[in-house]
Amino acid sequence: MASQLLNGAAVAEEIKRGVAARVKELEPRGIKPGLAAVIVGDDPASKVYVGSKVKTCQSLGLHSEKYELSAQTTTRELLALVEHLNQRDDIDGILVQLPLPKQIETRRILEAVDPAKDVDGFHAINVGRLVRGEESLVACTPAGIIELLDHYQIPIEGSHAVVVGRSDIVGKPMSMLLLHRNATVTICHSRTRNLPEVARQADILVAAIGRAAMITGDFVREGAVVIDVGMNKATTAGEINRIFPDSDLPKRMEDLGKRGYTLVGDVEPRTVAERASWLTPVPGGVGPLTIAMLMKNTLRAAEMRRG
Ligand code: NDP
Repeated sequence: MASQLLNGAAVAEEIKRGVAARVKELEPRGIKPGLAAVIVGDDPASKVYVGSKVKTCQSLGLHSEKYELSAQTTTRELLALVEHLNQRDDIDGILVQLPLPKQIETRRILEAVDPAKDVDGFHAINVGRLVRGEESLVACTPAGIIELLDHYQIPIEGSHAVVVGRSDIVGKPMSMLLLHRNATVTICHSRTRNLPEVARQADILVAAIGRAAMITGDFVREGAVVIDVGMNKATTAGEINRIFPDSDLPKRMEDLGKRGYTLVGDVEPRTVAERASWLTPVPGGVGPLTIAMLMKNTLRAAEMRRG
């Protein structure tokens, strides 16, 4: 039986509507939550991400500012900007788009952001709070995945969740959130032995790897829920034919013709859709949720900080 799609885009719209409504409620009190997005260098993908974050702020009634710094920016210069944004009362969230150029000490920058304004949830204080199960600003992508599972009433408690990927921004916080919801969590990575066998034990399988269509049907237990975090590009017709189900091919080939690629996750839909009960599409699954949660975190930061 083919799996059903978890419509992340629709859930993201609902989250954003909630944020916009709350932003309106704060207006009479003279509070307009504000996000400052900082981008260093000319990475085209980063520019697209930051652009859509700023645009989403505007559409929901949040204040936003974009800082575009040259690729030669030093750690000291960036620290000075972060410090300035920390001091400003009208800025509730500070986002430093990663990756930063090599000469910049990323960790120092992330630790310089006021934890109360750390809407990405990357600061050690927020990570520590998350591990302890305390109230904190949580990384947007994993937080969005929990909202998605809850929206579709997919039971987490008691389930076996297998997270493939152990990055600080997705895999680790995802595992913690699932653990706090009483899942039994297995974290896998590049050194995991017999990955397909481990993955097949999952009731909930989260793929956050960064390898196009690596998770095929033989990694998936019949009836499992599969969350595909990956964002990769398929650039050849052969690849597209192998990865996507026939029904999806015309649209994918059209993408290829127009842009030279089509977006593909870490999961291979052609074989996984046969086995999973639920599956997130790429695009339209986890991606939109990440931005929606950034908006929600900015609102939360404003509410917490400004009472
Ligand atoms: P990282 O590169 O930081 O981490 C990748 C993880 O995958 C690592 O833990 C790595 O293991 C593991 N891994 C790599 N190869 C294998 C393998 N062959 N078998 C098992 N594990 C493997 O990536 P991110 O976590 O930042 O991102 C993961 C993916 O999610 C990317 O495609 C990224 O673009 C996407 N992403 C999407 C977002 C969205 O909003 N949709 C947001 C953030 C990321 P090890 O630690 O051993 O090296």
